[in-house]
Parts: sequence; structure tokens; C-alpha cells
Amino acid sequence: MNLVREIAMDNRVGAAMASFESNLRTTVDLAVAIQQIPSPTFEEGERAVYVESLYAKTGLDQVHKDEIHNVFGRYAGTDSRQSLVISAHLDTVFPIATDLAIRYDGPKMESNRIYGPGLADNALGVAGLITLARTLERNGFRTESDIWLVANVAEEGLGNLMGMRAVVDKFGPDATYLVLEGGSFGLVFHEAIGVHRYLIEVRTPGGHSWGDFGKPNAIQILSSLINDISNLNVPAEPKTTFNIGVIEGGTTVNTIASVANCQLDLRSAEKDLLDKITNQIGRLVESANGQPDVQVVMTQIGKRPSGRISRESAVVKMATAALEQVGCSPVEFMAGSTDASVPIGLGIPSVCIGLAKSGNTHRLDEFVDITHLAQGLGQLLLLSLAMAGLVGEGAE
Ligand SMILES: [Zn+2]
Repeated sequence: MNLVREIAMDNRVGAAMASFESNLRTTVDLAVAIQQIPSPTFEEGERAVYVESLYAKTGLDQVHKDEIHNVFGRYAGTDSRQSLVISAHLDTVFPIATDLAIRYDGPKMESNRIYGPGLADNALGVAGLITLARTLERNGFRTESDIWLVANVAEEGLGNLMGMRAVVDKFGPDATYLVLEGGSFGLVFHEAIGVHRYLIEVRTPGGHSWGDFGKPNAIQILSSLINDISNLNVPAEPKTTFNIGVIEGGTTVNTIASVANCQLDLRSAEKDLLDKITNQIGRLVESANGQPDVQVVMTQIGKRPSGRISRESAVVKMATAALEQVGCSPVEFMAGSTDASVPIGLGIPSVCIGLAKSGNTHRLDEFVDITHLAQGLGQLLLLSLAMAGLVGEGAE
């Protein structure tokens, strides 16, 4: 019999699982309260203070923040030499001034779909941490490992997984790691997609649109470079992608632009293909740089590791069993760039899981669908207890 199924048969676990459904709106309200505090990458301080105050009320011990605003709290196990680290990122892709208003698709208490920027990614993930802490406490579950609940910074954008790198530095390679996302229920991320990010800057002497016509224009040079990048052939399998996500440049309409830049995101499931596309773009940049009076510089601004935890590993099997136990089938196995990429890139067994279904991620009309949220929380409890080693009632 598998461990997850055995844990699910424990009466206390059964009662806790049932409570997720009856307390569903509490978890949703908590997610909304977290979502209402703006938390762009590198500006997570205010949300971190709020989450720390929530931790303090749950009775977790060793509640504290580090200097980059990662928030920690511990649910003590019977053997503190072992740690299970469960994390959810605090940051969002939305700038500080974004309107964070929540919208329901009907009367509040009947809506399953709730719209709000950053609600699924990742206020709900953080709310999952708090809900888990409350559930562990309320039921007095005892586990072998310490369970550290970590709300970390800098997962999105140019954060470069800095928050999670600090977390993995702190707990080391002997800890096990479980990463939560508010969306993505039913998926198990066990593969880390390698990501390279670059800033491409074009500089020219510029000039007057009429008087200097014909001199190199940074915007036009950058546009033509972007066009060349857009025409690159990338394989669908192993999936390899490029994206120009930000573009800036120029000063006035009648000035030949002297500066222009863009930010480029390259990803591949295969390290060699990621290196290949990076080199191809490097060559395009070099040839643009060869034109007179034109300077093109490509600077790396982000790098996320690639790696893979086998589907046969204990952690992936437990994650699969937890999803099946709550009635989710088939389980989908995914590659992605999540905080789990940090431990996975180091070969440390870890996965990222989701709590509910969601849509329009990273858009202003992002939404979470709470239809499966109770199952998502059930999966989280089962997997946490399996990974941390639930101490049975008769085992004391
Ligand atoms: Zn996320």
C-alpha cells in the first residue's frame, strides 16, 4: 500500500481534508487579503510583513524574516535534523500602481471564478501555506521532519529566483523541497526549464530627422534585429522558445533615435538547444554591431537552471499519489521555470504543485477557479505529511 493512501486513511487526516471544503471561503478570503497588498518583484516588503503577522498568529515557531524579506516559520517535527521546506513566492508581475480590484463572476458566495491580478499567481499559493499551518496546528499532527513554511521573494521577472536561492542555501541539499503555486492544480512540475535572459542595447550618434536623414537609427536597427530573431526556427520538441517582452527607445518624433533596447527571454527543455539559440542570437547581434556608427551590446540579465527529477523518484511518486487520492486523474507531468528549478537544478528531489485551476496568468484579468481548491489543499496536506513523515497515533 502506498504511503499517501495510508495517511489518507488516518481519521484525523480525513477530518482535516473535509474541513478544506467547509472552510473554503476562509482560504479564498485570505488569498484576497494577501493579493490586495501590492508585491512586485523586489518590492515584497509590505506583503512580507503581513504574512509574517499571519504566521505569528498560527503559532508556528521561529517566525522571522531574512534581509531580502523571505518569511520563515517552523512547525516542529520530532527530529529537527530533517527539514521539509514548503515555499510559495510572494512576488507578482504587476507594478506597484496596478489596480488590484477583485471581480466575481456572480454573487460573491456563489462564484467559483474570481478575477484579480496576482490572485492565482501567487496570493493563493501563499494562502495555501497559512491554511496548511492552521490545519497542522488545529489537528496536532506530528511529523518526523520539521516543516518550514517559507513565503519567498523574487520568483518572477528579473528576480532570477534570488529568494529561493537564499532558501536553498539556508536549508541545504539534505532538506526536501515542495513549491506551491496558486494555479496549476493537477500538474506536477518535476523538470526545470532552462532560461536565459538578455538585455540588447543599440546605440548610435542619433541626429535630426530631416537634416541627418540616412544616419543609423537605433530603433530601426533594433527592430530589424528583432525581426531576424522572430524568423529563427525553433523546434517544437524539445520545446524551445524566445520572447521579446520589453522594448524601449528614442526621445522625440523628429529625432533619429540614438538609443533603443529590448529584453529577451529564451527557454528550452534541452540545455544544448538553449545554448544553440543563444549563440544564434549572439551572431545576429554581432552582425548588427558590424555596421558603421552602431554599437549593439547583449548583456545577460537572468539565468535559471535546468534539470530533471525522475518520475520514478519517491517525491514525484508521492505527489502523483496525493493527486490521485483526491480524485485528480490523469496527473500531468510538467517542465517549467518555477522556484523548484533551484533545488531541481542542484539535483535535490523536489516538485512544484498547484492548488486550484486558474487562467489568464500574468494578465490583468487573471482568475482563479476554486472548483478544485479543496482537493488542491487536500493534496497539499497529504503530500506534506508523506514528505515530512506523519507520526502515527499508535507510534508515540
Ligand atoms: Zn508563480
